[in-house]
Amino acid sequence: AGKIGVLALQGDVSEHIAAFGRALGTDYPEMVVVPVRRAEQLAGLDAIALPGGESTTISRLIEKNGMHRPLAEFEGGIFATCAGMVLVASEVDDPRVHPLGVMDIRVERNAFGRQAASHESYIEILGLGEPFHAVFIRAPVVSRAGLGVAVLARTPQGIVAVRQGRHMAFSFHPELSGDLRLHRLFLENLFR
Ligand code: GLN
Repeated sequence: AGKIGVLALQGDVSEHIAAFGRALGTDYPEMVVVPVRRAEQLAGLDAIALPGGESTTISRLIEKNGMHRPLAEFEGGIFATCAGMVLVASEVDDPRVHPLGVMDIRVERNAFGRQAASHESYIEILGLGEPFHAVFIRAPVVSRAGLGVAVLARTPQGIVAVRQGRHMAFSFHPELSGDLRLHRLFLENLFR
């Protein structure tokens, strides 16, 4: 039996719980998905999802709940989307965010500009055969990826999908488009 946590401080928590529940499905029937609000709940998790939402707010709540260091030292895999991508970075363009530094990336918030704040498009992602329907909502981009970071996808605005060891981060929302291939890729990478 194993457990996937979803950081449940703010953001699209229920969508992540639903998507991981479906992705585990018949392949990992003994695993469960649980919301995580306190540092003690990190013990025994195989992985945690950091949802989309407002990264400055989530960062503040992480500090308030004493979860910065426990998350920075978390040994499982991290599946980070949108605001989550901002949080896993080692460097962020906004000083209000105290990032976890678990991925060697620099991230720029709201990098697609006001006019195209939200959009959807099909993008090519390394490791997936067919293009992926990506939902971008006031999305960040990766402007620098360290040597240990695999770039999985880029757009003209910048890098939008990365993997480093057990961790994956996306500018867009794989939990919203109904396509679970990135969840499955993450789980395969975690358990192989
Ligand atoms: N722009 C938001 C932030 O940086 C992220 C938006 C989202 O998660 N949908 O916090």
